[in-house]
Amino acid sequence: MSVLIYAENAEGRFKKSTFEAVSYARAIADQNGAQLTAVSIGDVSNDELNNLAKYGADKILNIANAQLKNFVNQAYASVIAEAAKKEGADIVVLSNSFSGSGLAPRLGVKLDAGVVDGATALPEQNDGKFTVKKTAFSGKAFAIVELTSTNKVISLTPNAYKVVEAARAAQIEVFDAEVKASDLKTILKEIVRSADKVSLPDAEIVVSAGRGLKGPENWGMIEELATLLGAATACSKPVSDAGWRPHSEHVGQTGIAVSPNLYIAVGISGAIQHLAGISSSKVIVAINKDPEAPIFKVADYGIVGDAFEVVPKLIAAIKEH
Ligand code: FAD
Repeated sequence: MSVLIYAENAEGRFKKSTFEAVSYARAIADQNGAQLTAVSIGDVSNDELNNLAKYGADKILNIANAQLKNFVNQAYASVIAEAAKKEGADIVVLSNSFSGSGLAPRLGVKLDAGVVDGATALPEQNDGKFTVKKTAFSGKAFAIVELTSTNKVISLTPNAYKVVEAARAAQIEVFDAEVKASDLKTILKEIVRSADKVSLPDAEIVVSAGRGLKGPENWGMIEELATLLGAATACSKPVSDAGWRPHSEHVGQTGIAVSPNLYIAVGISGAIQHLAGISSSKVIVAINKDPEAPIFKVADYGIVGDAFEVVPKLIAAIKEH
């Protein structure tokens, strides 16, 4: 038996969620006395690749084909599947990130595998049954699913599993995977970032605001707080619908799902559709003047107060320290 982990990078650096997935895959390999191979795609330095060994990869496959510099769903799925076949991997693990959520079902088809998307715990393997706990209904419930196929694909919910050091002396092997023209029907030519902004889906800290802020002219304090914390800014749906903020900042069931270590919700009521996008945040802080606001039911810390008083005080306190 063998386990393969797809190690996703952002501009040549592995994300924390990737190391979580490596640790998770290491634990599955240990459960089964199996080898763990990590596969990386794109332009990643050897120093960075070696970090995969720090968290338990026995072997590192590096796919650095020029055509795969930027993420292309179909092509990435094909070469990961090729790597899995080459390694004889029965289980493929990846992070349930934006790209992971597109890759998992494609890998399922290519490997004839059962797929669990959004796993939150290690598989249970008893009496020949292989079951995995996962999120369901946009994070409002859990489901236990059984995988009956020989090959299995598991995408791990970010922040659901701890990064665990388990250093190995892994070799880096260049894998010159074949890239088919039919997999490159859509090519990502360039990613143009909004100037100096922290990317919302990958942010460790998110400062988000809702209709309680009354209008777009009041976002200065949200941006200042975000800059001080090195955070991304986000908003609720009505805020982006009203054009106060760009749609790319809209978080929730119909927007982006985030999983930061810290989510600060300012003037957001906590509607179920908003919570669907933030439920895997590690710590939620709510600032709302209504003590009955539903956001307080999910918040780890709550401040009942007027955002226009609380946020400037928070900014001043952070500046003092
Ligand atoms: P409100 O619900 O109006 O809440 C504003 C809050 O600000 C209140 O709790 C109020 O007490 C507080 N407040 C007011 N003044 C202050 C002040 N001075 N200081 C502090 N607090 C103050 N919503 C999303 O966000 N994301 C989604 O993806 C999404 N998808 C949806 C999909 C569907 C099919 C539907 C029907 C709805 C969806 N919604 C979504 C909308 C959702 O139901 C809510 O309407 C929305 O989240 C509310 O946004 P809000 O919290 O900014 O505004």
